Amino acid sequence: MSTLHQHTLSRRGFCLCCVAAATFAATGGWLTPSQAYAEARNIVDLIRDDAAKAPIKVHRLRGNVNILEGSGGNIAVLTGADGKVFIDAGITVSRPRILEAANDLSRDPIRHLINTHWHFDHADGNEWLNAEGAAIIAHENTHKHLLAAQRVEDWDFNFPSSPLAAIPTEIFPSEKTLILNGSTLVLKYYGPAHTDSDISITIPEADILHTGDTYWNGIYPFIDYSTGGNIKGMIKAAEANVAAATDRTIVIPGHGSPVSNRAELSAYRDMLLAIHNNISKLKQQGRSPDETIAARPTAAYDAKWGQFVISPAFFTRLVYQGV
Ligand SMILES: [Zn+2]
Repeated sequence: MSTLHQHTLSRRGFCLCCVAAATFAATGGWLTPSQAYAEARNIVDLIRDDAAKAPIKVHRLRGNVNILEGSGGNIAVLTGADGKVFIDAGITVSRPRILEAANDLSRDPIRHLINTHWHFDHADGNEWLNAEGAAIIAHENTHKHLLAAQRVEDWDFNFPSSPLAAIPTEIFPSEKTLILNGSTLVLKYYGPAHTDSDISITIPEADILHTGDTYWNGIYPFIDYSTGGNIKGMIKAAEANVAAATDRTIVIPGHGSPVSNRAELSAYRDMLLAIHNNISKLKQQGRSPDETIAARPTAAYDAKWGQFVISPAFFTRLVYQGV
């Protein structure tokens, strides 16, 4: 989600951090994430409602690469004679605004869509993009998760299986290279990280790295244990992202401010490492999840990273599950 979502969620009073804080004050204890979500209305519906109203902001990067911000995860669009290439599809309700923004970039038809992973805020638009003419390319686990119904425990949400037109037709297990519009697109599987379906996309000519949801710029990330994610994999992916970037690389995160760099990526990796260490120690001492949250292992990082839907308490629970 974008900073715009953060603003509107907060303004409506549905921000999970606020709900959790209010509940803490009222009950003297934290709700489980599921309870907090129920209080806040369902997070998936919130994201959909927000995308229905959000404008699409266009960021022009290097060469033929652009970002569309405002519909779930950050969408990259490459223009050119081979037709537009989309990296992630956003939320279906944004279709008219995404099309308008894409048409303003160029009149090339949409021919390819790459999914960074299976989550709805990155793949919900698959069906309409396929109807526009896009072949869908993804890791084989994205294909697997979209084909069948999925439950994401920490969102307390059941996703139905996707329509056939939304299912990727070009899938791969570890690495795939595409040459389109004069650009090389190197798609590489991270291994289990945010889910078990995450890939990076590097474009060497423009020196751009799209990390999908292995990197949330300036905000605590979600980790989806229900479909194979874990904190150790998130750290490994963050290390791989830092290693793949130079001081000149433009880094596109899955969420958060969409134009990032190696320095911000390194700060994110350091934050994950420090919080993982703090929570590991507390768990080794035998502390329960609630006792670990009460010890505030994220305190030094909350002012900077804890201002979005993944609250400090929720992030602590997510890390605790995997240490
Ligand atoms: Zn995700």
